[in-house]
Amino acid sequence: MSIHLTSKAATLLQHLCVDIDSRRVGSAGNRQATALFASAAAACGFAVEQPVFDCMDWVEEGVDLTVDGAAFDALASPYSLGCRVHAPLAVVSTVEDLAQAEVAGQVLLLHGALAQEQLMPKNFTFYNPEHHQRIVALLEQKAPAAIIAATGHNPELAGAVYPFPLIEDGDFDIPSVYMTDVEGARLAACAGREVSLHSRAWRIPSTGCNVMARKGDPRRRVVFFAHIDAKAGTPGAIDNASGVVILLLLAELLTDYAGKLGAEIVALNGEDYYAASGEMQWLSMNQGRMDQIVLGVNMDGVGYRLGKTAFSLYSCPAEIEQAIRAELAPHAGMVEGGPWYQSDHSLFVYNGVPALAFTSDHFVELWTEIAHTARDLPEIVDPGRLAAVAEALHALLLRLERQAGGR
Ligand SMILES: [Zn+2]
Repeated sequence: MSIHLTSKAATLLQHLCVDIDSRRVGSAGNRQATALFASAAAACGFAVEQPVFDCMDWVEEGVDLTVDGAAFDALASPYSLGCRVHAPLAVVSTVEDLAQAEVAGQVLLLHGALAQEQLMPKNFTFYNPEHHQRIVALLEQKAPAAIIAATGHNPELAGAVYPFPLIEDGDFDIPSVYMTDVEGARLAACAGREVSLHSRAWRIPSTGCNVMARKGDPRRRVVFFAHIDAKAGTPGAIDNASGVVILLLLAELLTDYAGKLGAEIVALNGEDYYAASGEMQWLSMNQGRMDQIVLGVNMDGVGYRLGKTAFSLYSCPAEIEQAIRAELAPHAGMVEGGPWYQSDHSLFVYNGVPALAFTSDHFVELWTEIAHTARDLPEIVDPGRLAAVAEALHALLLRLERQAGGR
């Protein structure tokens, strides 16, 4: 494996996760990251496009929550409006209770069964279960002045974050904050009493962009994805600077690529953003062009220093399946894993495009202990593994190009 690629991977990781303060969509750091990606791809001879979308940045300066002078710990829900409210506390723990409640103008504490799962944003179209939509609709209909959500550990849905924000939605306009289930139990005992809630949080209109870098024939192309955005409050090394680094190493390896088979390298901007703006933009730009994609590749959570790199295949025709296995199976550091759908390769899968996804086989540990937290640092990523994936993808593209040429 190339020493040059490995050291370049380490440098890029440091730059994306440490030198750049945050890659949350709408932030200055997010725009620095997309600009860096665009200029690096252009330097490798790619035609680069950076279509802009409107989005929302968000800042907060803490929450004060008191009942008769006693303070409670709470955090502003990401993308929530701020508020200053003095009103009686209502408490509900089930959907049935919520449906019956008269809580207009009050401060509403949601806990227990009602606060088990993070609610999907109301305008999120990819996945939005009916019971979430029902809760959101009831909340809007009941019109409390503000919402307090008390949440526990939910590794499966909220990952490593505790407490997790029940609501993370810039399109939901009732101000909300969240707290631990322990703090929630203490607050629930104050039902009916006057609560003072002051949340200092602001929505800031902003912009972001995807970066699309292309070479070769766009009508028969392999598309490589990694999301470049990160949640607020995390350096986002394994989620997903590592994937972005692989794309940039691949771009370098393709500097002299002159094959007919097109290569499109995309830094998608929105996998960890409530509105998935980059994903929505890429889908709309590729309406009616999905059947031109020979193979879609996505990287998310790759390069964990423990375990192996796991790859998984989705509806690949036999010749592509063979090409993938021929290139990847011989790598001692790679293993074929089962399907998963919680990342951008779902854009390919749901549109019938053959897909290949990369992550780490310690996926569960990463998701439940590291993802979306301050612990997601470059130290947990092995740059050599990123170089290995980039080299394997380069070899795979050349193999697919030879197969196409042989026809
Ligand atoms: Zn991710």
